[in-house]
Amino acid sequence: MVRYVYDFCEGRHDMADLLGGKGANLAEMTRLRLPVPPGFTVTTDACRAFLGAGVEPEGMSDEVSRHLSALEDSAGRRLGQQDDPLLVSVRSGARFSMPGMMDTVLDIGLNDDSVVGLAEMSGSDRFAWDSYRRLVQMFGSTVMGVDAARFEEAMTRLKEACDAPDDLYLDANDLAGLVETYKQLILDETGQAFPQSPAEQLRLAILAVFRSWNGERARLYRRREQIPDDLGTAVTVQRMVYGNLGADSGSGVAFTRDPATGRPGPYGDYLANAQGEDVVAGIRNTVPLTELEHIDARSYRQLRDHMATLERHYRDLCDIEFTIERGTLWMLQTRVGKRTAEAAFAIAAELVEEGQITPEEALARVSGEGLARLMFPRFDADATGEPLAHGLPASPGAAVGVAVFDSAEAVRRAETGEKVVLVRQETTPDDLPGMVAAEAVLTNRGGKTSHAAVVARGMGKVCVCGAEDLAVNTEARCFATPDGTVVQEGTVISVDGSAGAVYAGAVAQVASPAMRYLETGERTDGVTAAVAGALEQADSVRRLEVRANADTAEDARRARRFGAQGIGLCRTEHMFLGERRKLVEEMILARTDAERDRALAALLPLQRQDFTDILAAMDGLPVTIRLLDPPLHEFLPDRTELAVRVAATQARGEQPDPLEAELLEAVNRMHEENPMLGLRGVRLGLVVPGLVAMQVRAVAEAVVARTRAGGSPQAEIMVPLVGAVEELRIERTEVARVLAEVSEESGVPVRCPVGTMIELPRAALTAGRIAEEAEFFSFGTNDLTQTTWGFSRDDVEAAFFSAYLDKGVFPASPFETIDPDGVGRLVRIAVDEGRATRPGLKIGVCGEHGGDPDSVHFFHTAGLDYVSCSPFRVPVARLEAGRAAL
Ligand code: PEP
Ligand code: MG
Repeated sequence: MVRYVYDFCEGRHDMADLLGGKGANLAEMTRLRLPVPPGFTVTTDACRAFLGAGVEPEGMSDEVSRHLSALEDSAGRRLGQQDDPLLVSVRSGARFSMPGMMDTVLDIGLNDDSVVGLAEMSGSDRFAWDSYRRLVQMFGSTVMGVDAARFEEAMTRLKEACDAPDDLYLDANDLAGLVETYKQLILDETGQAFPQSPAEQLRLAILAVFRSWNGERARLYRRREQIPDDLGTAVTVQRMVYGNLGADSGSGVAFTRDPATGRPGPYGDYLANAQGEDVVAGIRNTVPLTELEHIDARSYRQLRDHMATLERHYRDLCDIEFTIERGTLWMLQTRVGKRTAEAAFAIAAELVEEGQITPEEALARVSGEGLARLMFPRFDADATGEPLAHGLPASPGAAVGVAVFDSAEAVRRAETGEKVVLVRQETTPDDLPGMVAAEAVLTNRGGKTSHAAVVARGMGKVCVCGAEDLAVNTEARCFATPDGTVVQEGTVISVDGSAGAVYAGAVAQVASPAMRYLETGERTDGVTAAVAGALEQADSVRRLEVRANADTAEDARRARRFGAQGIGLCRTEHMFLGERRKLVEEMILARTDAERDRALAALLPLQRQDFTDILAAMDGLPVTIRLLDPPLHEFLPDRTELAVRVAATQARGEQPDPLEAELLEAVNRMHEENPMLGLRGVRLGLVVPGLVAMQVRAVAEAVVARTRAGGSPQAEIMVPLVGAVEELRIERTEVARVLAEVSEESGVPVRCPVGTMIELPRAALTAGRIAEEAEFFSFGTNDLTQTTWGFSRDDVEAAFFSAYLDKGVFPASPFETIDPDGVGRLVRIAVDEGRATRPGLKIGVCGEHGGDPDSVHFFHTAGLDYVSCSPFRVPVARLEAGRAAL
């Protein structure tokens, strides 16, 4: 038979699914014989059954009655008993902590009779009537649905009438009158009287807490924290104890270590003559917990003992709520406490040192997300004001600089030593020099895999993209915020890429010691030592290799310092930006073989030098070089601009420049409505004669040069956007021909494995065939997500993803965290079928997901050999690959 109620002495801390975090931990403290006011927990099963059927599950109310009787027996008094009432609190407690998101009702059991008994028992009329008015107020709003503001208004009116600056000035008579006012208010608003029966109060309060699981606040919070909607909450019913019975009473919050820094030792706040709610609400100034030693030494000593017991027992930082009732200490709640990223690393390392946990457990308690937070410089949280705008937090960190509105200006100012923030509607490859020069990039269009975001992350630049509230006017060189503030070029702004916010002026920053450690190996403090230890541990247990996506020798060197075991993706189109773009344009638009050959011949030495430098930086480690994969429009002149220029010349009655007219004609010919699905990747290689040969020759000659220099180059050639094995077969024949040619010419045997990206559903579904020709696979999950969902990776995130996230279509953007059911299924199919054809096939991933913690865990279980991500994500991926292997 299903049980719906558990006494505190029946549960355990590992029953949080059923009893909620609060119920499970109260049970655990009871088992540890700590002074917990007795009580019981109504389970999440009961909540789910109630919310599903709309009525209490059968048997629940009998069970509640039985447990209440037991509670009454142990207390020696009845709920609401007239002369000495037992009162209880009714609190929510879900599996995952949702602070303040659901309802609580205190002082259940008070009514017109028992309030008199409480006054006698406590010796204070005021206390009794204040408790009763709190119950009627809380019950009226949370259980009976009266607008909480109506109670506040009644309170304000009373205070005005009594000339009382705050409610502490109201006496027992005033409060008794207020109870009457509140009861009348409930009757007027709901047509029902405040229930006098304590049992009825209890029943209704439990059901109200169940209902609050689906309250607006709770739903919103769950969405943000990615807590599933179907868990339900448990309800704890516990004997009330009072911290507001005078100077020898009080309430407090205690942490066994500092949750901000991780430093060991007691930490917390205490408020004399107050209930727990008052401490959190901050209505009066609290004192540091250590002051309690002077206020009530005995309780303080006991509390310290209990804190030590709990930390030893949970082997982790515990956060505790307690109340002292007339010199008697009561423990009201404990849980493993939330902490900053810094504290998480520090505490895990300390506990290993203290012999409390193993290095594996320590690794499980830190996270890649936390490490990423430690790596970026941060704004001082106390120094930010109201943001000018919000956008997508595309690349984390904090940057300050003057706003500039084009790439050339960014470069010009940066050269004079000025720090700049490049503000664009969106960026294109042409903006790269400006992005390199800038501290941060801010756009009002584009999602997290838009150009600005991908490139900024790759470079470790701060980026906020899709800040749609901003009106960016590059002509007028300014942007305007919704409230009409206009920020002109040259004005200092601060960009928080971790929060996706933009501020006026220079917000103060805090440097990151973790970053210094990764760059130099220097361990400057306990936190960096802890980071080092966690990464070493991760490296010793992980199965996944971690490579980097890098297109320059500088990025490659940084990636290597950060622990990359090779390059998983070198995007060769990124090597053709800036001045070299013109050469690619000439190659694409060439009308004759001779013109094309000239363009290719000019590109060859540039490519060779790039590859030589990268192979040198990654000597001895694999470097996967991808053949050209630009969406064409990125390399062609802007069609509209060109057409306007030609038309303007004609309108003046002049003959257009024949070269310009010809260029326009060519651009029109090559124009694509949807370039991301057009002449890209392998398709370009198959239709532009000589392109593949030039790139492969550049790779092969770089290998020869490095071999002759005594190096150990490990180049791999990767073909992008393959959808059919035939494409790969043709391309591979060409690759083999050129490799043989260069080997022959140089006398140095050049052997480069040839593999393919799997980034189209058709490639994944025919992976068994493709593996006949591919020596390795690398999942391009950016394009695979785009083509599987039919989501344009450049548009959708800013356009409607926030609505999709709100509506719960998916818990996270599928461009950020791999969609395990759809895209992930294609990955699994391709892994299985690829390896069925070619056992031991090396398989990696080089889409943005390669650096995303949840996705790394997915790739681990899917059996990949490596993940490849931007250099700055390499430590994150190392850590998460280690955690995935635990
Ligand atoms: C991908 O599609 O995931 C990928 C890595 O290629 P790109 O982002 O360059 O299209
Ligand atoms: Mg791709």
